[in-house]
Amino acid sequence: MDVGRKRELEEKVYAGERLTREDGEALYDSDDLAWLGRLAHHRRTELNGDRVMFNVNRHLNLTNVCSASCAYCSFQRKPGEKDAYTMRIEEAVRKAKEMEDEQLTELHIVNGLHPTLPWRYYPKVLRELKAALPKVKLKAFTATEVQWFEKISGLPASEILDELMDAGLESLTGGGAEIFDWEVRQHIVDHACHWEDWSRIHRLAHEKGLRTPSTMLYGHIEEPRHRVDHVLRLRELQDETGGFTVFIPLRYQHDFVDSADGKIRNRIQARTTMASPAESLKTFAVSRLMLDNIPHLKCFWVMHGLSVAQLSLNFGVDDLDGSVVEYKITHDADSYGTPNTMHRDDLLHLIWDAGFRPVERDTRYNVVHEYDAPPSLAERRAEPQQVWA
Ligand code: SF4
Repeated sequence: MDVGRKRELEEKVYAGERLTREDGEALYDSDDLAWLGRLAHHRRTELNGDRVMFNVNRHLNLTNVCSASCAYCSFQRKPGEKDAYTMRIEEAVRKAKEMEDEQLTELHIVNGLHPTLPWRYYPKVLRELKAALPKVKLKAFTATEVQWFEKISGLPASEILDELMDAGLESLTGGGAEIFDWEVRQHIVDHACHWEDWSRIHRLAHEKGLRTPSTMLYGHIEEPRHRVDHVLRLRELQDETGGFTVFIPLRYQHDFVDSADGKIRNRIQARTTMASPAESLKTFAVSRLMLDNIPHLKCFWVMHGLSVAQLSLNFGVDDLDGSVVEYKITHDADSYGTPNTMHRDDLLHLIWDAGFRPVERDTRYNVVHEYDAPPSLAERRAEPQQVWA
């Protein structure tokens, strides 16, 4: 990028002007990572100061049985496969209650599109979880799942959302977005929920007063222009509804571990590498700069490792998700030794160590607790990194 174009972009960012598609593509063209980080950090500081938000949550995947076979997915199993599972409602409640002592504030529930589970199962699970843990917020189901519920119940999404909300639903999850552009989407997505339905269901959720996250799966066969297109669609929808709380770039992962049966379900890994840490930092920075109307940007640390998660805080990120526990959707595909559980203390130290101020939030990004100064060195663990070993 020539110096003049760089200055022009810099001036737009510092003046708070909205960036165009061409600007976004130019930012991805830049190999000056430090410059991108500086611009994104400026925007992040304007929006969120030195805060880093996190929550204490647990992920629950009620079933890995799925009717679809998305090309990037290592999680799906077909009925009858050896490690296919579907949780009984009591099991889901038991797993959720295991974290009660940690003052859990959110359950994050995402599942395969099970071919025979009846629609009634889903509101029933929510009701029982809510009865067992009344203070815990339920963030559940992707737009893809809601569309699946339409198919298996014959009900419109509006009635489905009403019933789920009555059962305790606080927020949808942001998944199922992948990359919206059909040029890429047709090669990676096997379910039937594309931009028209994904945006319809989130719009509807926003109209009903829910607030939802938004995501993008990057680092596979897409090009930077597809990422720019993706965030522009979300920006336009956010202009209309104002209902997105956060944007989460999700890093595509290879199926390194392989499953116990030796099958590799991820069919695109032969065609691609994974995004490098530098590419991830660039994606965070450009997303922060393009999405001027979505307040928060999240690094889902499970997918990036803890060091990149700390670095991302200087590239526009102000949210590190939560304590997670048993993340399966891509963690089945992880062999880097990234943990899948962190406790409140671990998250606090991770944020302090990176030079930021931790703020515990709830599902709607309301502040639960602000933490100021870190404890003195004498009070802290001698080797902070060891707490995740
Ligand atoms: S990404 Fe979701 S819908 Fe696609 S195969 Fe995996 S579990 Fe099924």
